[in-house]
Order: sequence, then C-alpha cells, then structure tokens
Amino acid sequence: MCAYRIPAGRSIVSPSSSCFSCGEIIKWYFNLPIVGYLLLKGKCHDCGSKFSCRYAVVEFITACLSCLLFYRFGGFTISFFYYFFFLCFLTVVFLIDLDRWLILDSVLLPAGLFGFLLSPLIVQKIDCKDIFYLFSIPIYNIPNWGYILIDSLLAGILGFVVFYGISFYGLLVFKQDAMGGGDVKFAFCIGLFLGIEKSIYAFILSFIIGVIFLLPFMLINKKSGREPIPFGTFMAMASVCSFLFSDLIRKFIIGFY
Ligand SMILES: [Zn+2]
Repeated sequence: MCAYRIPAGRSIVSPSSSCFSCGEIIKWYFNLPIVGYLLLKGKCHDCGSKFSCRYAVVEFITACLSCLLFYRFGGFTISFFYYFFFLCFLTVVFLIDLDRWLILDSVLLPAGLFGFLLSPLIVQKIDCKDIFYLFSIPIYNIPNWGYILIDSLLAGILGFVVFYGISFYGLLVFKQDAMGGGDVKFAFCIGLFLGIEKSIYAFILSFIIGVIFLLPFMLINKKSGREPIPFGTFMAMASVCSFLFSDLIRKFIIGFY
C-alpha cells in the first residue's frame, strides 16, 4: 500500500483501501494480509474485477522474512523490532524502485534518521570498538552507545563514498549515470541502519546479486549492460541477507583464515 501511495503523493493513513475499478471501499476483514486475498479469491467483492496477486505475494514474502527475523533475534526483542522496521522500509524502497526506478527522499530521510538514532538500542554481536582498533582510530573514554553511533555514521559515509565513487566513475568513463542519486542516498541510509560490518556485507552482496540477476538478461538480449537498472532493488535484497545471515557470513570469512 505504501509502495503504491507514497510515490503518488497520497496519504498512507486515509482513505481506506478501495477497488481500483468500482471504487468500493474494501471491508477490513477482506483487507487482512493474505487471508483477505484468499477470501475474495483475488477479486473485488462488489464488481468482481481482479486484484493483482502482487499484494498477496508481497505480504507472504514479508511474513516469511519476519519469521526468519524472529528466529534470528530470539523472539520479540528490541533487535527484532529494529530490523522489522528496517525490513518494512526496504520492502517499500524495493517496490517503488522496481515500479518507477525511483528512490524517494520522503522515504529515505525519516527511515535513515530512525535507524541512526535507535541503532545503540540493538544488541551488537561484535563490539564496535574492534572496528576502531582495527583502523587505529583513537576514540577512547566515550560510552558504548557513542561508539555505536559513530560506527553507524562511518558506515553511512562509507556507503555514500563508495556509491558516489561508482556514480562519478560511470559519468567519467561511460559518460552516463552508473548509479542514480537515489542509490547513493540509499547506501548512506543502509550504512546508518547496519553499521560498518553488516554494511560491507550488504554492499558486496548487492553487486553479487546484481550480476546474478543481470547476467542472463545480458546474455539473452546481448545488451551492452549500459541501460539503466533499478539497482536499489539489489541493495534492498542484499541488506536483508546481510542482517539475517551476518553470523554465517562472518563464519564463512573467518573460515578462510
Ligand atoms: Zn470493485
């Protein structure tokens, strides 16, 4: 609903959802996630016109990912709610970028601020100070939440610099935008939410996912690979993988040493 209404500049609070064809308001029990779609058999109760199965598919995938989150963060913990909000935000960014090739500031700004300010509340598996020791950054005698905020901010700046660099390089070499401005701001937001360790996983994964998705298309269509692509969708998918599987990724990397 957010992905449909926000780009159109409509309120996400009111009015209630209605049929695209006849305008009839959809009753609350038909508006329940997945259940409503199945009850209506994907059709409007009044005029019988078909609803896109996308709503049910999105609801189903979000539900599955939420279950994974539940197990990952040990039930309804603060970390669970933090990443659940991040998951919802990523879903909206993913869908809008998929539909309109757009990443909106009105979605990024509030979410990024929320992610940054609340990041000290979540349980950090790795002590942020390790990162500072690693890069020999001499910041001492500040409380742990201070480290976490700095970690978030540094990750945001890292995302911004990397993606802005790619964008700048694309403009210099290919004389066209390799990355949209939205992707650069999105990378900044991802950094604020995830902190340095998980952000690095997310950024690397976004390129791997991008290659996996685009390679078949490039081989079939023999495209030059220079057409614009909604890269934000890959970044959103990579971010979800990063916070769900960061423990596994870390074990995998440590396994190499
Ligand atoms: Zn209808």
